[in-house]
Amino acid sequence: MTKFSDLDLNPKVLKAIEEAGYETPTPIQAGAIPEALKGRDVLGIAQTGTGKTASFTLPMITALARGRARARMPRSLVLCPTRELAAQVAENFDIYSKHVKLTKALLIGGVSFKEQDALIDKGVDVLIATPGRLLDHFERGKLILSDVKIMVVDEADRMLDMGFIPDIEKIFSLTPFTRQTLFFSATMPSEIERLTNTFLANPAKIEVARQATASETITQGVVMFRASRRDRETEAKEKRDLLRALIEREGEACRNAIIFCNRKVDVDILAKSMKKHGLNAAPIHGDLDQSQRMRTLDGFRDGSVTFLIASDVAARGLDIPNVSHVFNFDVPSHAEDYVHRIGRTGRAGKTGTALTICAKRDEKFLDEIEKLIEGPIPRIESPTGTPEPQADEAEAEEKPKRSRSRRSSSSKGRERTEEPAEPQAEAPKPAAKPESSRDSGRDSNRDNNRDSGRDRGRRGGDRGGNRTVGMGDHLPDFIALSFDERRGGPAASDADETESETENSAA
Ligand code: AMP
Repeated sequence: MTKFSDLDLNPKVLKAIEEAGYETPTPIQAGAIPEALKGRDVLGIAQTGTGKTASFTLPMITALARGRARARMPRSLVLCPTRELAAQVAENFDIYSKHVKLTKALLIGGVSFKEQDALIDKGVDVLIATPGRLLDHFERGKLILSDVKIMVVDEADRMLDMGFIPDIEKIFSLTPFTRQTLFFSATMPSEIERLTNTFLANPAKIEVARQATASETITQGVVMFRASRRDRETEAKEKRDLLRALIEREGEACRNAIIFCNRKVDVDILAKSMKKHGLNAAPIHGDLDQSQRMRTLDGFRDGSVTFLIASDVAARGLDIPNVSHVFNFDVPSHAEDYVHRIGRTGRAGKTGTALTICAKRDEKFLDEIEKLIEGPIPRIESPTGTPEPQADEAEAEEKPKRSRSRRSSSSKGRERTEEPAEPQAEAPKPAAKPESSRDSGRDSNRDNNRDSGRDRGRRGGDRGGNRTVGMGDHLPDFIALSFDERRGGPAASDADETESETENSAA
């Protein structure tokens, strides 16, 4: 088995690793470090939790220990998709470079430009940044990238999800052609493949097992949730009751937990509700300002916050050891997010528990997750019991059941076409998009508007095609007359245009 001392790392780095308590390199470290130290480009296909951060920071520190940075010209660059991940990478540098004199700066949103500029002006060895913020600094003329010798792209597939690929391409083109590139991604969609083909030179490819197959230290369970009534408020309240009951049932084993919601608005509501019930909870999502997010995370790390209520992006890649539980208040709509979420517990060989609440409408997402992890998640009994369906609901229940049995033998495509049969107000889809679509709130409004526009269009079509459709026999004559006149008369085209304009603006 490879030892750290076999890896040709700087002795001061080896000392820091020993002090961090690491005994042997993880597979991604054993694969990537020797190649990176040779100066080769590296393509690492690995998720968080595999030790990938050290697999690029350790060789970087070793390489950068020689030489000095010039003003405004960083010698290396690490690009991360989120502020939290960037802050975490910076922490890793602090741990591993404690015996080496290296300067670093963290360029992330929510921190004042002035402070960051002052650091860059002095010259930094390592610049850790989110792509947008880095380009802001560059465009303000505060940064020169022509001395970058090593560039790291971390979590490239998440960058793709968040729409950062054009920024990454631009940053690549601003750095010297001769730079060394260390590129990490959990998955390799075609767009990422294209990027690596364009910007990496004959990379050493190191692929480690996906986290989906490496979560044996995590005990999983899912509670099938049914509200006693169908209105949203009752449902939301009962879901919160269920979550608290689950936490209570876990007892002392639940020392702390990250609780995931699909929507930012629910993160806030749930945090407020838990606090009201005397639980030590704090929210974290992309709309909170950076200092608040950092405070909350520090609080969760040091134990002064017990329950971190989080959205996917805010919690993505967070490396907080000793998280005993993860709860999915909502089933994530992207199966991969499930793997990322539950990977916040059971880290570095420790055990953990991940419990998911699954509402009826989310069963399709659960199916996708079980397909991805290639096995069923054990169903566990609800601590609040299963409510009896209400009398008016019992009948409504019958139909979906029938259609479900048809569905089970149908193709996936048909399942999808049946989805709109669910009430629009209850459909979680627009909000269930990852937070990375930063305007998701606006998007969902647009979707709603589009629907109403479509309805309007349909009504308009009826009116144009057959004036009595949908109006019965009691149509007053004067209304019919005015339609006829409008259709046949000179104003007809204007009227039609007005209608389609309304439709477009609604869309
Ligand atoms: P990462 O995949 O970089 O997010 O790392 C996941 C966790 O593993 C972090 O808590 C690291 O501190 C820890 N870690 C990284 N490398 C090692 C190692 N060789 N031995 C033990 N723990 C490690």
